[in-house]
Amino acid sequence: MSNNTAHILDHKHISPTPMRQLVLDTLLNKKSALSINDIEKMLYPADRITIYRTLKTFEQKGLIHQVEDGSGSLKYALCQDSCDDNAHHDVHVHFSCKACKETFCLPKNQIPKISLPQGYQPEEISLTVKGVCKDCQITMQ
Ligand SMILES: [Zn+2]
Ligand SMILES: [Zn+2]
Ligand SMILES: [Zn+2]
Repeated sequence: MSNNTAHILDHKHISPTPMRQLVLDTLLNKKSALSINDIEKMLYPADRITIYRTLKTFEQKGLIHQVEDGSGSLKYALCQDSCDDNAHHDVHVHFSCKACKETFCLPKNQIPKISLPQGYQPEEISLTVKGVCKDCQITMQ
């Protein structure tokens, strides 16, 4: 495990416990979003509740965000640097690959502003593009 994880946690004002470093390391090593089940499998036999709490802390501190890709299981991915413990500033489009079932962040694509009818209070917004990712395209050729 690298000291890099401790540095990143420190930067987001999260005290770097071994478990937090481990979960962060797992997220850093994967380029796609991970569900709690994925992380649990990768960190076996780590306790599911502890993983869940770790993810919640990361989310609150602006280190990771939730990814809804329509698969039915909630996934998490690392945030851009601009997120902090008050707000996520990197609301972006996600790409879900039909072939490998992985979901990726497309941080350069901001979700357009949606104008809601009067009296509607938005809480969250997500936009997922479905298709075939670059790696799978190459495999298919
Ligand atoms: Zn964020
Ligand atoms: Zn793919
Ligand atoms: Zn994302």
